[in-house]
Amino acid sequence: MTSVSTIYRALLACHGPQHWWPGETDFEIAVGAILTQNVSWTNVEKAIRRLKEEKLLTPRALHRTPAETLAPLIRPTGYYNQKAKKIRNFLDWFARYGYSFARLRALDTVSIRNGLLAVSGIGPETADSILLYALEKKVFVVDAYTLRLFGRIGMLRGGEGYEEVQQLFHRRFRAGVREYNEYHALIVNHGKYVCRKSPLCGECCLARRCGYAA
Ligand code: SF4
Repeated sequence: MTSVSTIYRALLACHGPQHWWPGETDFEIAVGAILTQNVSWTNVEKAIRRLKEEKLLTPRALHRTPAETLAPLIRPTGYYNQKAKKIRNFLDWFARYGYSFARLRALDTVSIRNGLLAVSGIGPETADSILLYALEKKVFVVDAYTLRLFGRIGMLRGGEGYEEVQQLFHRRFRAGVREYNEYHALIVNHGKYVCRKSPLCGECCLARRCGYAA
């Protein structure tokens, strides 16, 4: 019988470990999670490179940078004025913890998540990406690839809210942070290259388990 664990194992077998999230530091991961909203990762990389060239990719340096200065540097990510504000909002919140990921990590997941969700411009997917990839907290990140893949497989009926989908994985995928990290990365890989908008079902390792391909 198909379960979320079976799908995980099948994806891992066909794509191999993904070694996510791209980023040299926890802070870079958090900034990347905000910048990647509604844009491809290639564009995020361009913005991250510019921030590094300007020596701004540390919390204090970036927090000292006015939004008007920051916005043009992150222009490749689109919605750059809004994203500059979102990054500054995040930094206002992060400053309360002394810009320390170690201090955040010591808190319980629900408190940090609620804190992140209270930051203007940070929604559940961004908050959970920061929790999972920068803070190594065990949360499942739900994104459009997740909804499409599990909808097609037949494990989602469509119309479920973010938390409802997340709870399904939290209840049924009994694994550690490393596997949660890997699972999201595998779903993204599969959604980009196989279960695309026009799916390549003939090349898909999940085809025999998938209602869409049947
Ligand atoms: S069989 Fe097709 S629809 Fe199903 S998961 Fe694979 S690519 Fe997606």
